[in-house]
Amino acid sequence: MEKNNAAEAKSTKTVDSTLKELTHSKTSTKITFGAIVLLYFIVTFITTATARSQGTVMFFGLPTPVSSFTGIFSSLANICIILLVVFFGKFGYIVSLTLLIVQFPLQVYNMLERHSLAAVPGIFTSILTIVAITIIYLNNRKIARYQQRMRDQAVTDSLTGLPNHFACTELCEDLAKHNVKFAVVSIDLNNFKSINDTMGHEMGNQVLIEVAHRWKELAESWRTGTRDFISRLGADDFSLVIQGCGSDADIRRTINTYEKELEKKITIDDCDYYLTASYGYCVFPTDTDNISTVFSGADAALHEVKRLRSSNHICHFSPGLLKTERMLEIERKIRAALDSDEILYHLQPQYNINHQLRGFEALARLQDTDESFIAPSEFIPIAEKTGLIDRVDMAVFRQAATFLGKRLTNQNMDITLSVNISVRHLMRNNFIEELREILRTCGLRSDHLEIEITESIMIDSAEKALRRIDEVKRLGIKIAIDDFGTGYSSLSYLSNLPADLLKIDKSFIDQMNTSDSYKQYVATIISIGHILGFKVISEGVETEEQLETLRQIGCDLIQGFVWGRPVAPEVAAKLIPNEE
Ligand code: C2E
Ligand code: CA
Ligand code: CA
Repeated sequence: MEKNNAAEAKSTKTVDSTLKELTHSKTSTKITFGAIVLLYFIVTFITTATARSQGTVMFFGLPTPVSSFTGIFSSLANICIILLVVFFGKFGYIVSLTLLIVQFPLQVYNMLERHSLAAVPGIFTSILTIVAITIIYLNNRKIARYQQRMRDQAVTDSLTGLPNHFACTELCEDLAKHNVKFAVVSIDLNNFKSINDTMGHEMGNQVLIEVAHRWKELAESWRTGTRDFISRLGADDFSLVIQGCGSDADIRRTINTYEKELEKKITIDDCDYYLTASYGYCVFPTDTDNISTVFSGADAALHEVKRLRSSNHICHFSPGLLKTERMLEIERKIRAALDSDEILYHLQPQYNINHQLRGFEALARLQDTDESFIAPSEFIPIAEKTGLIDRVDMAVFRQAATFLGKRLTNQNMDITLSVNISVRHLMRNNFIEELREILRTCGLRSDHLEIEITESIMIDSAEKALRRIDEVKRLGIKIAIDDFGTGYSSLSYLSNLPADLLKIDKSFIDQMNTSDSYKQYVATIISIGHILGFKVISEGVETEEQLETLRQIGCDLIQGFVWGRPVAPEVAAKLIPNEE
């Protein structure tokens, strides 16, 4: 414990001295100090002059002796003295004390020379001022010490005595403020958990203390040739801030020195331990000029080392890594949401051109930790890439079908539920079986169901896709071709496709009223769709103007913010006629 306290005190010194060295000269403070001292001298001079003056001045119409103003100026001088002690601590106290003490011989000399006791009150005032400023100074010192102790605790890791996460962030913020180049290295001990699990936490702590001790000594020895600051962020995570690193090679050389120091045998209670670690680093301002991304950049590089499990334990940040990092995070969130049934969905209404409800499209929703929604355009592609999309599709499908199934039973309502199914999912061997199972359990009639697929399905393996779509149709389920116009759009495949609905992509609707060729294109899709026997729906309709154009060119159905955004199922249900 004692050893810890000593280490704590020493390391705080490192934090504070490092931070202090970084602080630029406090010019404004020096000016204030000089101004107060100057004011003190001026006021003291006036005090002496008024005390000696025999003259009188008119004050509020009354002749008043000049000497009666002495007290006012003398008090002003004392205020200057007190200000020095309050604002400039020990230094201010010493200067004040000196100024007061040098007055004594002058006051005594005055007394003797003039054979007058007039200076006696002045001497007493000086003595009282000395007592007052001493009390103020001692009191302030107590408060400052207490504040220092609080600060020490706040910036120190209690187990190892190393500076902690706050100290590290504070240092980096200061360095960034002064445009100093530095590298942040995130360090994670490899397999440290196994020491804790097999030898117990107490032994794990001893190992951490030894590692911290070695690295601190190394940082203070300047052996690396760079200026280093090591801190412990928590558990087995450390952070190294390297200054004075001209090139990438300098940073790697410094990290290698820390690596070698760590890899030397550690012996505790006759047990030998051999540790290794992974290191990821990010350089300010070359990799990023944002202080928070310098840390996340170093973490991303560290995770890359861990992910690759290669023999190279050091990785330099590159922008692509942040993307990987975010993707991994989202993948984790999707998995967690799937495991705990927390994939949500919203329903967006679809209407016929006369504003009568046709049905709803179910759209997957994934909540972030702060309860905001992660954009589907971000998480759906990740779900596709990681093979989780089938489970996401099914979670939305099952919940939405059960929800509407309950509301539509015993009602003679013609409401369609559209669900998005990824191409990959549709082509899975057990897809039809899954569909049957949902139809059996959710209580929704198959003719109330529609499956949205993108036209890209025809590019991969048209024949197999057509067979699969046929199977779906035989179950009585409708087929919609989503995002129509953005992909393959070949007339020959369209005429073979047993679809029911074409969904014109929002990008065409957006341009329709600004470009005549887009308007012609939309009109043509609608005509061809009708010739081939499909209904046509426009997606992403946002304005009355778009609505009017679509009406003119014969669009059958509308989906878009103009008549309804995607909303929570309970809210959507209120749109169904006869629903309370
Ligand atoms: P999508 O299938 O084309 O769905 C329509 C998207 O357009 C939805 O975005 C909807 O909120 C948005 N939208 C509708 N009307 C308007 C409008 O007037 N203005 C604007 N600005 N946007 C409108 P969302 O919900 O972000 O979904 C994006 C995409 O994610 C979907 O595009 C779909 O491809 C995919 N997705 C969503 N849920 C699922 C799912 O359960 N399974 C699969 N496989 N994909 C899904
Ligand atoms: Ca869709
Ligand atoms: Ca679409």
